[in-house]
Formats: sequence, C-alpha cells, structure tokens
Amino acid sequence: GNSVLSSYGTTIFEVMSRLAEEHRAVNLGQGFPDGGGPPEVVAEAQRYLAEGWNQYPPMMGLPALRQAVAAHAARFYGLEVDWRQEVMVTSGATEALAACLFGLLEPGDEAVLFEPLYDSYVPIIRRAGAVPRFVPLRAPDWTFSREDLAAAFGPRTKLVVLNNPLNPAAKVWSAEELAVLAEMLVAHDAVAVCDEVYEHLVFDGRRHLPLMALPGMRERTLRIGSAGKTFSLTGWKVGYVTAAPALLQPVAKAHQFLTFTTPPDLQHAVACGLGGPDTYFDGLAAEMQRRRDRLSAGLAACGFGVLPAQGTYFVTADIRPLAGDEDDAAFCRRMTVEAGVAAIPVSAFFEQAPPRHLIRFCFCKRDAVLDEAVARLRGWL
Ligand code: PMP
Ligand code: GLN
Repeated sequence: GNSVLSSYGTTIFEVMSRLAEEHRAVNLGQGFPDGGGPPEVVAEAQRYLAEGWNQYPPMMGLPALRQAVAAHAARFYGLEVDWRQEVMVTSGATEALAACLFGLLEPGDEAVLFEPLYDSYVPIIRRAGAVPRFVPLRAPDWTFSREDLAAAFGPRTKLVVLNNPLNPAAKVWSAEELAVLAEMLVAHDAVAVCDEVYEHLVFDGRRHLPLMALPGMRERTLRIGSAGKTFSLTGWKVGYVTAAPALLQPVAKAHQFLTFTTPPDLQHAVACGLGGPDTYFDGLAAEMQRRRDRLSAGLAACGFGVLPAQGTYFVTADIRPLAGDEDDAAFCRRMTVEAGVAAIPVSAFFEQAPPRHLIRFCFCKRDAVLDEAVARLRGWL
C-alpha cells in the first residue's frame, strides 16, 4: 500500500503524554525534567544565537563541541579520543542511534538486543532490513543468562545495542556483565552500539563504566551521549557519537542524509556545558537520586512494590498489590484518567514475553510535582 510507515505505530511516550494532557494529569510518563537546565549553558546558547550563529555548521559538528566530547571522554573514563576522526555531533541520541543502525546494518544482518529496550531501536533495525534477536533481562534484578546471550548470537550477527544505564529498568551494567558481552563481541567479530544517554545519572556512589573502556573494546564500540539528559535540556536534541574511524565513517554517511547538521548555537552551548566543573555533574546525580528517593517512598506508601533504581530518570513499580487482574497498559490508562497521574506501561519496552505487572514512573520533576502525584494516588487507591 502507500502507507507502509503506519507499521511504525505511535510511540508510547506520545500516546501517554497526550492522554495526560487531555486529562490534566501529572505527567510522570515521558522522561523529561521540568527545570530550566544549567543557567550558564542556556546563557551560552542565547549569546551564540544573538551573535548570529544561524547557518549550517560542518556536517561532523562544530570543532568546539567535538573537542569537548573528546575531552569529556578522557576526563571521566580515561578514553583517548581524536576529535577530528572519532567524534560526530547528531540531532539527539535518537538520530545518533538511527545513523549507527542505518550506517552499519545491511539487509539480512542480525542485531542483538536486550529487552526491555528503548522503543526506537527495533523499528529502525527492521527498516534497515536487519533482523533483531532478543536477550531477555528478567525482573526484578534484570540479569541475563550466558545461555540466552549465546543463543542470540550467530554467523549473521553484526552488532549489539547496549543501553547502559538501562531505560526503563534503571539498571547500571556491572563490569562482569560487560566483560561477558565483550567476550561475545570478540568471538563473533561484532560491534556494540552503546546508548549511554544516562551516563551521568547513576546513583548511590556507582560509577558509569562505558563498554568502550574495557580491554579490546575501543575498536568495537560506538558510544552515544546526549546533552538532553546530561544538561536536563531534552528539547535541544544535541547528541554525539564517539567511535574509531572505521566505525564512524559509515555512520557519518547515514547522518548526512538524516539531518546533516544540528543547530550551531546549541552545539556551542553544549561544548561549554561538557567542560563544566565536577560539582555540576556530581550535583546532577545527587539531585536526581534525592528525587528518586522522594518518589519511591511516596509510591511505596501507596502500596506499590517499588523496584531498585540504580540510574536513569526512572523507577519501576509492581502494580500487583493494587491492580488485581488488570494489566500494566490498562492500569496506566485508568490511573491517568481517574487518578490524574500518568506513567508508562513497561510492556511497551518488550517485543517478546512482556511482563504485565510493571509500570515506569519518571522522577526528574520538582518536589511539588512529585508530591502532587503521590497525593493524587493516595486519594485514588
Ligand atoms: N536512548 C534512551 C535510552 C532514551 O531514554 C532516550 C530518550 N530520552 C534517547 C535515547 C533519546 O535521546 P535524545 O532525546 O537525545 O534523542
Ligand atoms: N526517552 C524518554 C523516555 O524514555 C522519552 C523520549 C521520547 O519521547 N521519545 O521517556
């Protein structure tokens, strides 16, 4: 037919945000902060816009931002990155993911994915003509078995997509888990597309460890970051990919026909942000951890079973104590309409064997908003 793109469906984040708007619900579904972002970063954007940075920047991104991305990788992870050959700026991590998948996958290739997974991966992989293979992570601790991992790899495996920290499960991958994955990548001569947009949102003293920093992985990984998450500016859509030249080149070929460039005023501002003091990055994690604790305590007091959240913007809750036979999607709908609080059903992050008893709440909101959501839930339940 002439409407093949309808097979994409509408993303759950848009569906729940519109439903939340319609019912004036507190929106703890789609993940976005409600603060203003760091004032010094926003001021830089305003300054560059006022100075007239209005035309196409270079396809690979402004040198200032590419240098800042390379310096950030050295500072936080000890990675040596050549900004001229190994960094590309994209319009958000979403575009970085699409460019990596379209750039690296040929029809008939296979891609290994852990589920739960972020909802943009599979539609792009299928559109590239490739075949997704799934490795289940099992709640509540979201671990995988070596057998399941080995079963997903085969002679046609081209790449693995790894989301670390993991949305929606709020899992931070351990060094041991990453080592098991690294071993598989080497054995199958595959590469990893690492979606690390939540790299600075890890809690309780944890450190984010990029797969790229493991022995043998420097030439086998593409690392994706996003200013949306690192600076609480999700509407800016500034992302970046770091990879060895042989991997980045095909990705840049895809990027030139997806967006080609990203607004230069925003690129300059993000370059400034990435060079910010340690206190900024530590403060961001500490503040989000505090909000995680505030919302988690409120949800537990309502009777939800609250799962641990090691990182990201999200906490997942077990609805079984409250939902009876209702599944996660029906419960989220009813909670939005009746209680005026929106969340995301975790089944939306699965292609195979979804759990039906978990919903995802976003905690990167002001205290008053979190408290209002909990008050509404208490009144409803
Ligand atoms: N990957 C993951 C795991 C996400 O949660 C998101 C959305 N926040 C993205 C990618 C997209 O990031 P961006 O807004 O930079 O496109
Ligand atoms: N990443 C955000 C989330 O998981 C939403 C991004 C989007 O709306 N596509 O909630």
